[in-house]
Amino acid sequence: MIPAAFDYVRPADIGEALTILKKREGDAKLLSGGISLLSLLKLRLAQPSLLVDLRDVAGLGGIDVGGDSARIGARATHRQIFEHEALAAALPIMRDAAGGIGDPQIRNWGTIGGSIAHADPSADWPAVLIAVGASLTMRSADRERVVPARSFFVDTFTTDIEPTEILTEILIPVARVRAGGAYKKLERRAGDFSTVGAAVQLRQLGVQIFVADLVGISVSQEVGALITAIVLAGRTGAAFAAQLGSMQVNEEIDALTTAGIPPVQFLVLPRMLALIVMTPLLTIYTDLFGMVGGGLVAVTVLDLSLTTYVTRLLQVVTMTDFVMGLGRASVFGVLIALAGCLRGMQCGRSASAVGLAATSAVVTSIVLTIIADGLLSIIFSVLRL
Ligand SMILES: Cc1cc2nc3c(=O)[nH]c(=O)nc-3n(C[C@H](O)[C@H](O)[C@H](O)COP(=O)(O)OP(=O)(O)OC[C@H]3O[C@@H](n4cnc5c(N)ncnc54)[C@H](O)[C@@H]3O)c2cc1C
Repeated sequence: MIPAAFDYVRPADIGEALTILKKREGDAKLLSGGISLLSLLKLRLAQPSLLVDLRDVAGLGGIDVGGDSARIGARATHRQIFEHEALAAALPIMRDAAGGIGDPQIRNWGTIGGSIAHADPSADWPAVLIAVGASLTMRSADRERVVPARSFFVDTFTTDIEPTEILTEILIPVARVRAGGAYKKLERRAGDFSTVGAAVQLRQLGVQIFVADLVGISVSQEVGALITAIVLAGRTGAAFAAQLGSMQVNEEIDALTTAGIPPVQFLVLPRMLALIVMTPLLTIYTDLFGMVGGGLVAVTVLDLSLTTYVTRLLQVVTMTDFVMGLGRASVFGVLIALAGCLRGMQCGRSASAVGLAATSAVVTSIVLTIIADGLLSIIFSVLRL
């Protein structure tokens, strides 16, 4: 079949190409290797009035492999990708995929950028680029943007690219740790499009994985209870001292004693019981947030997947760790209540004495908590828990 009539331009640089695309928005089509586009033109499935040939535009080709990323120009051909030794060493999956595309003629002319922009569901590059976590750079006359391959492919023959944009390069992270990948396709005949293709890229996890052990065990055994106790010492311990101190100033405690109500039973015991129950409950809350925080760091900074982090957490954190943490929390609760009530009972008969009692309660509870924490660690380690 013969294509409908169209104009043809060969801009010399990317600025000129982008200006043309902007002027003829929706009316012009980019031509890279031409393999897919010419078939569409011949079948009249595409009828642009202008073809913008990218072959003279500098900066769109080439392949560079650096320390932690590889850059592939949009006009790099499948063959150039296949033959690039440094790329094959860093990302063997790229050679796997490029070597299986079509026949030598297709590999000599076809470009990775054209293949991606065309987004044929049987094409090989989309699955590979998603597996390796590639990012695609697109430029228009007004801006440049980088889109992850995962969100670039919208649907069959549909991508995120705008009619005024040119896909300029593909950036692929290169893992510093040991990594490897492979691409396999099922084709009915040699050189055919794939009936189905599968791409996988794996990398060996380094010490990052142990962040789950570190966070999980330390938070559940000790840190969760300790942080909760320090917060409670500052708020509840001080509040107990201030409350009982005010009762001293108002002679309410003397009144209770005169009425035959023992102040320890009436004022101290309920507060102690409250903290014995509430400190472990709040510790569970702290543990949960500690582990969520660890997960955030693992995913955003250490590049671990959430599933890996959670799976590892479930493997390493045991019920004993939680019981140890909650046991600590109950002991801390008793100490905070005791220090708060003791300082309140010892309070003088003035407003300033109430302030001093509250401050002293905080200091006493924190000191007692830290001493108890150390002693409990020794006891747990002697008991080999
Ligand atoms: C017989 C045959 C067998 C094939 N076998 C396979 C196979 O096994 N596996 C496989 O994956 N593919 C296969 N292909 C497709 C081949 O890989 C094409 O090279 C590829 O799909 C298009 O690349 P191209 O450079 O020719 O793009 P073109 O045909 O020039 O362009 C394709 C589309 O992308 C747009 N475009 C091109 N460059 C850019 C850019 N830089 N920015 C924005 N848009 C752009 C164009 O406007 C057009 O819409 C086969 C094709 C044929 C004809």
